[in-house]
Amino acid sequence: MEEAAALYEIFQQCTAVSTDSRQPQDNTLFFALNGPTFRGRDFAPQALAQGARHAVVDDAALAATDPARYTYAPDALVALQQLANYHRRQLIIPIIGITGSNGKTTTKELIYAVLSQRYRVQYTQGNLNNHIGVPLTLLSIRRGEHEMAIVEMGANHQGEIALLSHLAEPTHGLITNIGKAHLEGFGGVAGIAKGKSELFRFLAKVGGTAFVNTADPLLPGLSAQVEHRVTYPNPTDTYPAKLLSAAPQVMLRLFDGTQVAAQITGGYNFLNLAAAAAVGAYFQVPAADIATALAGYAPTNNRSQLVRTARNEVVLDAYNANPSSMAAAVASFAARPTPAAEKVVILGDMFELGEESAAEHRALGELLAAQHFGTVLLCGSDMRHAAAAHPAAHYFATKVELTAWLQAQPLSHRQILVKGSRGMGLETVLSLI
Ligand code: ATP
Ligand code: MG
Repeated sequence: MEEAAALYEIFQQCTAVSTDSRQPQDNTLFFALNGPTFRGRDFAPQALAQGARHAVVDDAALAATDPARYTYAPDALVALQQLANYHRRQLIIPIIGITGSNGKTTTKELIYAVLSQRYRVQYTQGNLNNHIGVPLTLLSIRRGEHEMAIVEMGANHQGEIALLSHLAEPTHGLITNIGKAHLEGFGGVAGIAKGKSELFRFLAKVGGTAFVNTADPLLPGLSAQVEHRVTYPNPTDTYPAKLLSAAPQVMLRLFDGTQVAAQITGGYNFLNLAAAAAVGAYFQVPAADIATALAGYAPTNNRSQLVRTARNEVVLDAYNANPSSMAAAVASFAARPTPAAEKVVILGDMFELGEESAAEHRALGELLAAQHFGTVLLCGSDMRHAAAAHPAAHYFATKVELTAWLQAQPLSHRQILVKGSRGMGLETVLSLI
């Protein structure tokens, strides 16, 4: 704590915190973090030369060369985390922690849209949701300026949400859902439920408030330990909401009867929108402003994006995929009113499934075979298991093969769903359809 207090003095004189010497260093506090293939301290002198005010390094000898500009810490990452928590404790504002298997970033963006109607809000930039991103988010909250903050917390192993909760000390928390994401690291759905509920456990301990999605089979039970609970979206909940239609865009009715036509597609986004409405209502954002914010949110991040190309209408959901989000996307796409024969699905591998991978891909193939999509294109090495369960599917081991097929028979007047894990980078097919 003493070290954090000393570093805090320096932090207050800096404009921002940096962990990347390739970024502009303008009066920054630079943390020389180690990577898998590099030592952060090798980049510290360069960061200082480029304008960083001060650097935290795990090299005592280097620090001794210029004690005014270096602070030695045995582990620069731990120093960053401790400083972030020290800073958080100086802030007397609500902090909303968000975790869950799917929809964290979307829900975070929606909550920001709603709360910023009334408050000055800081929130996680992009997807900076891990043991480094959460401290950086916390350190970007400005005392006296921001009135609340929204912190996305991601995890693929047990204990990670507990650590992030102890850093951010949220006063409020929301778990979007419990699904099959990062199955490998968590060890099954029960493991995921346990890992994600570390946020609720923290809130129970500090007397915080949980926002509870009662449409999820597990969350009502997992939240029972939290005394203060705000529920959505079922009729008897604190803030009910109703899905009116899921396609092409989501239409919903809010707790006060207001109808909202959102710009995002996919029935699963109803729960993300309902979550944001509940948080907004709880923090007393007027219902009309909540509706304006939700209707105004347009994703630009390859997540549930509706894109009209010159020839087709595309549901671009290529940001990521796992068994739950695939199933949700396929069901939602199937429910679109267009005849099934005009629908095309282009799906890529789901990563991080460990030994469940073959079975999960096969299950996806069966799910697809039960629909009557006009064309099914499956790409990636694990998708061969899905293709084996779907006799009419076209299978491509690589994106190069998929690209060649799309070039040879251009699709037009189709509705096309594009989805796969981040590593597949399927958004690149957009220029071909
Ligand atoms: P990450 O773990 O990468 O941070 P995330 O939880 O932040 O992901 P988003 O980036 O918001 O999630 O959404 C990723 C994808 O998950 C979306 O493109 C969509 O396909 C799917 N998704 C979003 N919300 C839900 C939901 N409520 N239920 C199921 N799938 C969803
Ligand atoms: Mg995210």
